[in-house]
Amino acid sequence: MKIYNSATHKKEEFVPYEPGKVSMYTCGPTVYHFAHIGNLRSYIMEDVLEKFLRYDGYDVKRVMNITDVGHLASDADTGEDKMVKGAKREHKSVLEIAKFYTDAFFSDCKKLNIKYPDVVQPATGMIGDYIKVISKLVDTGYAYFAGGNVYFDTSKLAKYYVFNDHDEEDLAVGVREGVEEDLNKRNKNDFVLWFTKSKFEDQALKWDSPWGVGYPGWHIECSCISMKYNGEHLDIHCGGIDNAFPHHTNEIAQSEAYLGHPWCKYWVHIHHLNTNSGKMSKSSGEFLTVSLLEEKGYDPLVYRFFCLQSHYRKSLIFSWENLDNAKTAYEKLVGRIAALSDGPAPVDEEAVAKYKTAFIEAVGNDLNTSLGVTAVYDVLKADVNDATKRALIGSFDQVLGLDLLEKAAALREKAAAPVEGAEEIEALIAQRLEAKKAKDWAKADAIRDQLKAMGVEIKDSKEGTTWTRV
Ligand code: AMP
Ligand code: ZN
Repeated sequence: MKIYNSATHKKEEFVPYEPGKVSMYTCGPTVYHFAHIGNLRSYIMEDVLEKFLRYDGYDVKRVMNITDVGHLASDADTGEDKMVKGAKREHKSVLEIAKFYTDAFFSDCKKLNIKYPDVVQPATGMIGDYIKVISKLVDTGYAYFAGGNVYFDTSKLAKYYVFNDHDEEDLAVGVREGVEEDLNKRNKNDFVLWFTKSKFEDQALKWDSPWGVGYPGWHIECSCISMKYNGEHLDIHCGGIDNAFPHHTNEIAQSEAYLGHPWCKYWVHIHHLNTNSGKMSKSSGEFLTVSLLEEKGYDPLVYRFFCLQSHYRKSLIFSWENLDNAKTAYEKLVGRIAALSDGPAPVDEEAVAKYKTAFIEAVGNDLNTSLGVTAVYDVLKADVNDATKRALIGSFDQVLGLDLLEKAAALREKAAAPVEGAEEIEALIAQRLEAKKAKDWAKADAIRDQLKAMGVEIKDSKEGTTWTRV
């Protein structure tokens, strides 16, 4: 596979640290609110990446954190802990909202066919590991204690910025307009590893540490959780593009300072889902959820299909019109698959191998999911029997996760199922035909009206009369 690596700014051939195995880490949700469909775009694309690697023969171990402490309202280590903010909003405890929104997140993932990660670790369950890593960073001079907090000293690194192509000043979190400056920091981008006094009054969860009672910063959780479950060498780290700086930059700083060697090789960033009025964000409170899409009558997989049609490294504009187009295309595609015969014809293994190779080449080129979807249409048009088409579509769907064969089977079942009241409708249509033959137009019209009142519309043609429910 070739994948764009944000750390090198290049599309690279993917070579894992250990042949045949992939260690993969995904920044999980901050569970103070529902995930919005923008967050879920990131998780859908990461899910396709994971499934593609498995399809390509790798043994993948995917680890995800759940941020239930330490993610402050501002990336500059200022503002309230988002979890505390969420708990206040709902008059509940932090633990209650963490559980509620974690469950809600995985329920949304299930509806979108996003596989449950191999390991899910809430940040609050790893305090001992953070203390161990922070202690070593203090002992080796990478971290310092000031004003009651422990900070990472970014000036100790030969290279701090990894992902930016911009002027470094643009990316200085501590000096952004409107953000209060933390005077304890020696350098503008130093970040907190452990909070004590400076943010304490309202903090719900706190633990003892060598630096006083407090709680961890946001970045340290991902380094420690990844190292615990995926070891000292990580193959792929993913997240939304907003995580690149400062979150991932700081993860690299502290992990490599701690380990003394390079840590993660490939950094994959998913670009944002935007609306015409800008980025969709939880903190603004204006966002769309999977439940809302369902309430409006959309199958969540229509949203997955919508995401797959565009490339993960381009921002994607959400509009109802765009979603409707995806819905129409998805339903048409399912309809075409449902029309394939399911006879016992032998599967053409040679054709399967040929089309699979083309699919792997297409999707394996920097996760080109839209070409992956196109591959399904190519199969439908191909000069192979229907059994081969079904085998190939089922195979591609292991990566695409669109439930194509299942939805097609459901559609066929629905079409074949006896319709309630069909006998009565057919009988009335027969009586109307008799009336027409007898030139009793009044009776024929009365029967048409009776059917209409029953919610049935009839259509006459040369072949006879057909009916549909309206
Ligand atoms: P959070 O719950 O805020 O920690 O974010 C969870 C994930 O969603 C992170 O990987 C973010 O980078 C990502 N994310 C946030 N906003 C968007 C968006 N509008 N589009 C795509 N991904 C996003
Ligand atoms: Zn993270």
